[in-house]
Amino acid sequence: SLEQVKENLLGILADNTDYVVNNIIEPFCRPHEEYCRIQQLLLENLERGLDPVSHPTAPVKMYPTFVRDIPNGTEKGQMLALDFGSHHLRLELVTLDNGSCTVDSQNGFVPETLLTDGTGEQLFDYLAKFLHRFLKQRKLLNRSDPIPLGFTFAFPCVRLALNRAVLTHWTKNLHCDGVEGQEVVAMLEEAITRKGEMNVVVDAVVNDTVGTLMSGGLDDPTCAIGLILSKGVNACYMEQLDRVGTWTGDTGEPKQVVIDTEWEGFGADGCLEFFMTLYDKELDEHSKRPGRYIYEKMISAQNLGEIVRLVLKKLHDDDIMFQEHWTEEMDTRGRFYTKYISEVLSDEDIRFQKTRHVFEDLHLGHASEIECRVLHHVCQIVSTRAATLTALGLATLIDRVAKNEVGVAVDGALYRYHPTFKTMLEQKIPLFLKKDKMFRLVSAADGSGRGAALAAAVAERIKGNHCA
Ligand code: BGC
Repeated sequence: SLEQVKENLLGILADNTDYVVNNIIEPFCRPHEEYCRIQQLLLENLERGLDPVSHPTAPVKMYPTFVRDIPNGTEKGQMLALDFGSHHLRLELVTLDNGSCTVDSQNGFVPETLLTDGTGEQLFDYLAKFLHRFLKQRKLLNRSDPIPLGFTFAFPCVRLALNRAVLTHWTKNLHCDGVEGQEVVAMLEEAITRKGEMNVVVDAVVNDTVGTLMSGGLDDPTCAIGLILSKGVNACYMEQLDRVGTWTGDTGEPKQVVIDTEWEGFGADGCLEFFMTLYDKELDEHSKRPGRYIYEKMISAQNLGEIVRLVLKKLHDDDIMFQEHWTEEMDTRGRFYTKYISEVLSDEDIRFQKTRHVFEDLHLGHASEIECRVLHHVCQIVSTRAATLTALGLATLIDRVAKNEVGVAVDGALYRYHPTFKTMLEQKIPLFLKKDKMFRLVSAADGSGRGAALAAAVAERIKGNHCA
């Protein structure tokens, strides 16, 4: 438990008790009431985003999607799914047949230079080339009838229709010119046309959280929330239509719509300032977008490792530890990867083999047992805070969903590879629930892509058609 971690840490650094309390424990181990205050602030932010008057300036955008239901198992057809969320790319040929879903997939990688220095046209040409290769290998080029495609685009977008979305701004440190403010499906379709030989029509564009919800929903009909814990963090959930003041679409059955919260934006108005440690402030100052994505910066896999590094650096700079050895790597922003946290926390070896391996990777060999133990505790404290912040957000959404039993479909590296994140979520969510609800976390590994195909199939089902 966190109490035990605090005690251990104080025991190890007994000569510096005040220092440890002031610089590690106090800043990170905040009382439950503060988390409850954050939960209340988040709830207010969700409502601001849903209200047409406050929506334009709301930090949490709460975009209504055109996705109105989860799959019910009667969807049928064959579709393509293209999943793009930053460096990783995934293409799938999805076959739906009365509840069964088979997927033939291929993973790819987008070069960093294209994501940060390229133009939108180059980026979409890259996606189209990847699609072309995939179709060629499967002898699906030059078909006379079009193949429907679901596009998972894991960035904040204003939706104009199920297959129309405008990117508001890049997140996750992407900087690709000429896409912000543009319709991304149109850009993809133009690139597909430029490449030629492909008869593909984009039927749906969804956020990765929505894809994850759709995918989880196929396996577990209680799913009403989709969560991504990865480089970016975000959640979507099924909201009742009469609570969505910004909804301008059809008001017929089903009287609900999936809301893409884009809650990574929480805190952009400074409301989380009281909770930020000096490490959070330093990380934020040096980020691409200072002052924004505060919630995401305290949780995501892009930042947790950096927070740990900043704590270690402080211990070094203040001559508390690591006096003997310090390396350039440890002075390099972003160099302490979040995957190290997972490695350290899964180290059960009394000789700290995995932890030592992490230190070696940072060229910080010969770490002492004390250094290994301190690193372990710092990773634990930083992870616990991230899990608690996520739990309070999930509890808020679970309470809003009009169901007593709520499945949360989850994916993302932090969820998959961190050894205790899932368990911490399960333990902490009940501490923030205000209603008597049952919940379960449903793993939807690699589900965000096929989820886009499912979203299109569900829309067809609601209209009374079958796709393909
Ligand atoms: C993006 C969201 C996305 C999340 C998870 C965030 O940075 O803005 O749209 O869902 O990352 O990939």
